[in-house]
Amino acid sequence: MNILEETKLILKKYKIEANKNLGQNFLISDEVVDGIIEAADITSNDLVIEIGPGLGVLTNRLLDNAYKVIAVELDERMVKIISERFILSKNLEIINQDILKVDLNKVIEDNKEQAESDGIEIGKVKIVANLPYYISTPIIMKLLEERLKIDSIIVMVQKEVADRLIAEPGTKKSGAITYAVDYFSQASDILKVEKECFIPSPKVESKVIKLEVRKEPKILVENEKILFDIIKKVFSQRRKTLVNVLLNYNIVESKEHAIKILKEIGLKEDVRGETLTLEQYETLCRKMVKL
Ligand code: SAM
Repeated sequence: MNILEETKLILKKYKIEANKNLGQNFLISDEVVDGIIEAADITSNDLVIEIGPGLGVLTNRLLDNAYKVIAVELDERMVKIISERFILSKNLEIINQDILKVDLNKVIEDNKEQAESDGIEIGKVKIVANLPYYISTPIIMKLLEERLKIDSIIVMVQKEVADRLIAEPGTKKSGAITYAVDYFSQASDILKVEKECFIPSPKVESKVIKLEVRKEPKILVENEKILFDIIKKVFSQRRKTLVNVLLNYNIVESKEHAIKILKEIGLKEDVRGETLTLEQYETLCRKMVKL
């Protein structure tokens, strides 16, 4: 039976329909599932956290490969389905909660400890998901900002979001989030996914991307909060010159002050903040904090 037939059968058996408010677009393409599993490259010692398992199309394959799968799902109907579907799988734990409220650091630590006491050494910790698109950005930021001890994140997101996440900072497609992703991880493009690969079909195209989480952030930063606050402010006024944004937000005391700092970094006074690299932002922050 292929995934489409399987999905239709489960939906019919449980007499349920997708809840659009929860971003439920179920994957029905065998090729896309293969692509995600291949990119995740799971070995038998890996601990996998799946966000939004839904009917279990990815869970099924993850369970075959991983040491353990922790599936975090908000919809109780889905929890019922996967607990019945995988009743025989000893390596599945289901957490029925909003992923944004789960203490993932604790989940990972507890599982590592448990494995250790069973004499098993966990290999890598990986996040795999076809994310609910309405909260894909907050989820990714949570995964990165909480400094989880994870190795990689393999996720399907809306194409436009994917393009922003994997863009080179300072290029046309980048946004404030691009800098955070680059700071915490090495991002790559895996697979483009057409609307027809889901039921119901979403209105937008999708992409699978992979973020390999850095052991240490890409650059050494004195004050991360100031750095990302400034980047966010710049991108909230991305059509303005960097000098004007710095002035509008009272980050600098005068235009001359702003121009002086930009010159020291080798930037023109009419430069737009969206063209700066992560490293240039770091220098900018350091110089402004000192002055
Ligand atoms: N993994 C399944 C698949 O690929 O067919 C379903 C993916 S569907 C795009 C997103 C899933 O995330 C749904 O099962 C939905 O119920 C779940 N979800 C939505 N919001 C959530 C949240 N805040 N926390 C955890 N799961 C959530």
